[in-house]
Amino acid sequence: MRLYDVTIIGGGIIGFGTALGIQRKNPELKICVIEKDEVVSNHQTGHNSGVIHSGIYYKPGSLKADFCVEGRASMAEFCIEHNLKYIKCGKIIVAYEEEEFPRLENLYERGVANKVKGLEIIGPERIKEIEPYAAGLKALYAPNTGIVDYREITEKYAQISMENGADVFLGTSFESYWDPKTVGENLILETSKGEVETKLTINCAGLQSDIVAKKMGINPKLQIIPFRGEYYNLKPEKKDLVNGLIYPVPDPQFPFLGVHFTKTVHNGLVEAGPNAVLAYAREGYRKIDINPKELLSTLTFPGFMKFGAKNWMTGFKEINRSYRKNVFVKDLQKMIPEVQKSDLDSGGSGVRAQAIGTDGTMIDDFAIEVADKSIHVLNAPSPGATSSLVIGKYIANLALEKILS
Ligand SMILES: Cc1cc2nc3c(=O)[nH]c(=O)nc-3n(C[C@H](O)[C@H](O)[C@H](O)COP(=O)(O)OP(=O)(O)OC[C@H]3O[C@@H](n4cnc5c(N)ncnc54)[C@H](O)[C@@H]3O)c2cc1C
Repeated sequence: MRLYDVTIIGGGIIGFGTALGIQRKNPELKICVIEKDEVVSNHQTGHNSGVIHSGIYYKPGSLKADFCVEGRASMAEFCIEHNLKYIKCGKIIVAYEEEEFPRLENLYERGVANKVKGLEIIGPERIKEIEPYAAGLKALYAPNTGIVDYREITEKYAQISMENGADVFLGTSFESYWDPKTVGENLILETSKGEVETKLTINCAGLQSDIVAKKMGINPKLQIIPFRGEYYNLKPEKKDLVNGLIYPVPDPQFPFLGVHFTKTVHNGLVEAGPNAVLAYAREGYRKIDINPKELLSTLTFPGFMKFGAKNWMTGFKEINRSYRKNVFVKDLQKMIPEVQKSDLDSGGSGVRAQAIGTDGTMIDDFAIEVADKSIHVLNAPSPGATSSLVIGKYIANLALEKILS
């Protein structure tokens, strides 16, 4: 059995961002990453919108605000340095009714407080210059927002971390651990392919992070609730209806940004979405995917019951939009009136790992819990991918403190 200084559970963008963060601080440390699937970035990282967010939405002083602003710059630099797909296409967040103006102004102020550069409030003429087919009375323009392919980026993170000496075990699932109190100084992790001895474990298991934490003796006061986001694709011949990114003004009660148009780095094709419906399985990418055990655990979690009691109306609207393309299209037509139902093909989907506290509140900020010989990333929703190098650096500092103390 090989001894590692650090074992990272989860081969998504946060797991590999953390591996790079540790190697940059201390290249001598022996690291391994264990990933249950046969490929990296098979879940949230490989099923997201591919946007490098600029840091507008987040409460000043929060981890999200700080990490995203620094993360945007470091992600853009990383893509340029490694010749990965990256387009700084800019984004508009559009108000369609006057009653949305205060929320738009509020977003502008947040962005300025977060030191997001180049923000401008613009009127209908400037909206048309940037996005000729977009409607709207007023918009917040964020010129530094960009698009990338996070799967490609994570593969590059993995490649670099292996070149730097990390071992990556794919198709290897973390199952349980032996407490050092019973076996000595280090943790012994039991995986589907045998045991791994490690001084420190970092849990970056995304949709499974609360389950992994519990298996490691942590009792987080939250649970991951899976919310599926479904996309439509604009037909290729309609892709020129969108130049960059067109978003609505989000509902401040929810961390989700509302269905939007996203240009992708894949031949300029455009996605519309994602919505946010409760998934009946943590890795439930289709409406028909149900995992009875996971669904029961969601429905009986007291935090979800409280959340559901407060937000059932929004939940109902999301389900209605998920099953009725007409309703989805109507929302999209607010942004681009020319878009027709026939212009849209069904697209992919992603499942967000959104932590909800036992008191029923959606945990808005990134949540990282530090224990004796383990660190747990318990909430890393959007802009987690944008922020991954900075989250990795932050966790590396925590890890080194633990290992060197
Ligand atoms: C629909 C959607 C749109 C989004 N859009 C954006 C965006 O445009 N920009 C942005 O910045 N962010 C976006 N996000 C958020 C972003 O994708 C996440 O913040 C990020 O991918 C989280 O990465 P992760 O490594 O924590 O999780 P994941 O990518 O889910 O990786 C976790 C990994 O852990 C593995 N794992 C789980 N359990 C075990 C186990 N027991 N043993 C071994 N391995 C295990 C899983 O197989 C998985 O590969 C979006 C997310 C979604 C779902």
